[in-house]
Amino acid sequence: MLRANLIAPTRVVLEEAPEPTPGPGEVRLRIETCGVCGSDIHAYYGEHPFIDLPVQPGHEFVGEIDALGPGVAGWSVGQRVTAEPSLVCGECAQCRAGRYNICERLRVIGCQSDGALAEYLVVPAAKLVEIPDGMTNEQGAMIEPLAVGVHAMRLAALTPATRLLILGAGTIGLTALLAARAQGVTDITITDTVPAKLDLARELGAKHAVNVGATDLADFCRATFGAERAFDVAAECVGVEATVRDAINTLKKGGALVIVGVFGHEVKVNLGLVQDRELRLIGSLMYTMDDFLTARNLIASGRAPVTKLITGRYPLGQIGAAMQFIDQQRAHNIKTMIHIRPQ
Ligand SMILES: [Zn+2]
Ligand SMILES: [Zn+2]
Repeated sequence: MLRANLIAPTRVVLEEAPEPTPGPGEVRLRIETCGVCGSDIHAYYGEHPFIDLPVQPGHEFVGEIDALGPGVAGWSVGQRVTAEPSLVCGECAQCRAGRYNICERLRVIGCQSDGALAEYLVVPAAKLVEIPDGMTNEQGAMIEPLAVGVHAMRLAALTPATRLLILGAGTIGLTALLAARAQGVTDITITDTVPAKLDLARELGAKHAVNVGATDLADFCRATFGAERAFDVAAECVGVEATVRDAINTLKKGGALVIVGVFGHEVKVNLGLVQDRELRLIGSLMYTMDDFLTARNLIASGRAPVTKLITGRYPLGQIGAAMQFIDQQRAHNIKTMIHIRPQ
């Protein structure tokens, strides 16, 4: 089979590899479509804190079941599915408490295990989620990134009255926006420095979209809300210092900051304000099956128009060109889809 292999920073090659064989409890998928994630881009630059190279990337995928390993029941060849990409031990304290997204021995498909930028992939049957008829492969490949937003917004404990700040209008910021909208939150401000992303955020339901390249967020808050400390909850979806600072400065006393962005570097922030204002810091990693199913149902029902996030489409044979496009068009890329089989 053909697969993508990220052999060194910015060096992704296409190569032949043996097709994987499903073991007990596993199925083999023939991959249709796979999205390129922000974490794949961090890995592409050799900057992801938890991904070592070489790696066969890809964890946002749809495929067709192609072979069943011994003991697999309830699934059949030909079904179209996606899968939660977390590979967990099932035995640690977090797994036993149902928080397997932070399993002590967590590995992720496409990060610490072979991913879906390949013609075939083996996954545990327990992780499968069926793709309904009528959902496109691209929509199905967006379940994973939407589940990240659903999980983060669940941890934020929103109510319809929450005034929410989302920092970053990339894929994760926009999926957090869709998830918050689905929970009935209407007073949502989103920030970015790219006008096209802010326009899309408005179209997807953001009440305010602030270009923090041109406008200071605290100034915006004073002008719009009459106070610098304006937000009940902030979701950091970039992974840099400036956005953390904006969040801490503009949260109301007693507010909550959810960290969803992946940080390639340590940042310096004023924890004195966190203490003085009794802010709550909440980390958010991946999701669990309930978030994944919520994301699928939001897409299936039309409430999360995720196809609007797709800014590029390439066949697997052009994976190098796709990564270069993302590299050169960083400002304008939101989600690039790789079609493994011709659609
Ligand atoms: Zn992802
Ligand atoms: Zn575990």
